[in-house]
Amino acid sequence: MSDLTPLMQQYFSIKDNYQEEILFFRLGDFYEMFAKDAQIAARELELTLTARNKGSGEETPMAGVPCKSAESYIAQLIEMGYKVAICEQVEDPKATSGLVKREVVRVVTPGTVVNNDLLEDKDNNYLAAIIGNQDGFGFAVVDVSTGEFVTTQLDGPTQINKVIDELSRINPAEILLDNKVEETEEIIEFIDNQLNPILSKTKEGFTTKEAYRLLTDQFDVVNLEGFGCEELPLAIQAAGAILDFLVETQKRSLNHINQLATYSTTDYMVLDANTRRNLELTQTMRDKSKRGSLLWVLDQTVTAMGGRKLKKWVEQPLLELDRIEYRLDAVEEITKNIFAKEELKELLTEVYDIERLLGKIIYGSANARDLISLKSSLHILPEVKEVLDQFKTPKLKKLQDNLDKLEDVACLIENSIKEDPPTTLTEGSIIKKGYDNQLDELLEAMENGKQWIIDLQKQERERTGISSLKVGHNKVHGYYIEVTKANLDAVPEDYVRKQTLSNSERYITPELKDKESVILGAQENSKELEYKLFVEIRDKVAQETERIQKSATILAQLDALLSLAEVALNNDYTKPQLNTDDQIDIEAGRHPVVEEMMEEEVFVPNDTYLDQQSDRFGIITGPNMSGKSTYMRQVALIVLLAQIGSFVPADKAKLSIVDRIFTRVGASDDLTTGQSTFMVEMNEVANILNNATANSLIILDEVGRGTSTYDGLSIAWAVTEYISNPEKIGAKSLFATHYHELTELEERLPGVRNYNVAVKEEGDDVVFLHKIIPGEANQSYGIEVAKLAGVPSEVTNRSKEILDWLEEEEDKKVTEDTNQSQKKENQIKEEAGQLALFQGQTSEVVQKLSKLDIMSLTPLEAMNKLHQLQQKA
Ligand code: ADP
Repeated sequence: MSDLTPLMQQYFSIKDNYQEEILFFRLGDFYEMFAKDAQIAARELELTLTARNKGSGEETPMAGVPCKSAESYIAQLIEMGYKVAICEQVEDPKATSGLVKREVVRVVTPGTVVNNDLLEDKDNNYLAAIIGNQDGFGFAVVDVSTGEFVTTQLDGPTQINKVIDELSRINPAEILLDNKVEETEEIIEFIDNQLNPILSKTKEGFTTKEAYRLLTDQFDVVNLEGFGCEELPLAIQAAGAILDFLVETQKRSLNHINQLATYSTTDYMVLDANTRRNLELTQTMRDKSKRGSLLWVLDQTVTAMGGRKLKKWVEQPLLELDRIEYRLDAVEEITKNIFAKEELKELLTEVYDIERLLGKIIYGSANARDLISLKSSLHILPEVKEVLDQFKTPKLKKLQDNLDKLEDVACLIENSIKEDPPTTLTEGSIIKKGYDNQLDELLEAMENGKQWIIDLQKQERERTGISSLKVGHNKVHGYYIEVTKANLDAVPEDYVRKQTLSNSERYITPELKDKESVILGAQENSKELEYKLFVEIRDKVAQETERIQKSATILAQLDALLSLAEVALNNDYTKPQLNTDDQIDIEAGRHPVVEEMMEEEVFVPNDTYLDQQSDRFGIITGPNMSGKSTYMRQVALIVLLAQIGSFVPADKAKLSIVDRIFTRVGASDDLTTGQSTFMVEMNEVANILNNATANSLIILDEVGRGTSTYDGLSIAWAVTEYISNPEKIGAKSLFATHYHELTELEERLPGVRNYNVAVKEEGDDVVFLHKIIPGEANQSYGIEVAKLAGVPSEVTNRSKEILDWLEEEEDKKVTEDTNQSQKKENQIKEEAGQLALFQGQTSEVVQKLSKLDIMSLTPLEAMNKLHQLQQKA
């Protein structure tokens, strides 16, 4: 190390503390990266790799990016999953003679990004922390770009599942883990397979006590009572771990993180990771796109904040009747006042992402344009408040009451910042005239100076009589007076020659230079002053963070409610009536997404009735592709929509509140985990049987497919018994199955009902009517589906022959008396020839066997032949 230059020594001693990060080391106008960092950056960012101290024997690979464009390079690295430590010169190089002091001023990680270019408008960017001990887990989440900060404690027998459910809901960009969590295989497996975050470690040996102190300091409170987590040590520790990480990496004010909300997973409907996926709440299963998801249908929000809020609502349906009705009543009132709805929507379209602007303001990364965006967003608040005054329902009234018009903040920006400022903060042209006397004076001095120079040309032409005399300016020499060679005779004595050109001479005068330094001084001072004033204004705005956040949240909620109202009107939804009679009674319900995706066809509505007594458990049989899954998901989605406070796609809906929705759908494509499909399926079934209550809604789309028929049937049968039994679970359930045998359960078990999907036969063809009707299906129509799917008619026709024959056989088996048994055997033998066609290897064995001349074989030859045939069988 001592052989290194002092600069490289400084570099390596800083790099020592940032091993995992790529270190951006400030050298003048560049950020340089060295050694391994340089190699990575050169590769990933396509930079030229050079070397420092070339040829000295101490060569170090080096790559650099200009500071001006560093943001976009950092952004690219973060997107690729790297962390970047930014090391700045923390003293003015002009003021020191030796090595400039340097420090890391910020570490950018995927979970702590505040740069808009890196963030999805309608998505949060979350950093989560999970802390574990023998009692359970603490789970905290922050979005640094918006200031949202929440924590919870997850305990009880299914604590690991709860962590996984929360992770699947939050989908963090980065997760902090402690040792205990790192040893919890299920959680790590879920993170590895289903999420794609960057993992970091919490500080070793970080105690609850330290966490408590950090949090109370940050929020400037004596205890955490007010945040609801005083008694939750793990929740405190997780939140503390996040704060500690932020302090370490951000190294700056975190004022916008000014509160912590403690939540309980029991406040919301629990939706496990599978159910979220299966119901395609925010993204589709197939390609993870928003298009085709429930959120895609619901999202008519016009602001990014509203979009994030609505997503949260979809992910956390409510359980409390009052809260649901608050939202429903608000949505209803909006649908009845279309004029106000349009007015509000119009106003909201002018709103920028206030939450994230505020984040940037507090981070000190907001420029003048950001303040102008904030101002134009705040400008609409008084009008919003006025329009909201027309509404009477409690939720909208409360939003109206609590909306802070923030006129003082808007006014401050209005009076100080120019309408169309540059993005740079050090080049002036930011502050309006009349805001600051000193600045006005400087600007005036500059103007006067410039005017003096303009006047000088005229004055000097008159004095010298040289009509071609010019006053000009260049970067090297500043202001000068230019006289062509022909006129040199007339040059007065007081001109000082500065520069000779081919056709002219350039002069200065002491007076001119005086004025010049006045102008330059004023220019420099005014730029500095503008910057200082801007930072002051930005800080003043930052001091109003809490008030601004509050109004931003109100706008977000309003936007989300307007969106629900808009969808209710456009898609012809009705207001659901929530009941406590334990009934789900839907008239003409539709699937909210499938009906929107349809182009020409018309969606066929269906009724649903489920209660706690005679209609608890519906078994649905019917051909593939007839609409069973669509129907069952539609019921789940209608229930879920109601519980987020949305109207529902139905003519009428009476719904009881459910505590959870469970789904077990198809064979989940879980190949990545290396588990067999059947194992995955049984895990899902186990989860349902262990966690469902009488108040849950269960959707089962095929159970037992992944194993042999009898195995599968017995499992499906026993699962039905268990779920439908009120002493075990007794949840409202719909079960689509291809096991026709299960339809017998209607007779045997109370509460079980059979349904099937109506089919119309037209000659040889069938038409699926997509109508769910009582009773069991009598045919499976598999061959018709094969035909629809394009299987060649030669094969489908042959299948039909075989099916007819098999069915005849089945009938005969039942009706034949013993006298006919011999005849039947012959017939089967006869048919066996046909069947053999489909039995590949066996038919070859049979053919060879029938051709053998047994009488001519020796016993040994016979043994050999038998052996050969056995190999083929
Ligand atoms: P299954 O579960 O019985 O195999 P699906 O529910 O997957 O069948 O439905 C198959 C297709 O039928 C869907 O993709 C959809 O296009 C159409 N479909 C389903 N239900 C309806 C309906 N109620 N009205 C119109 N088309 C429907």
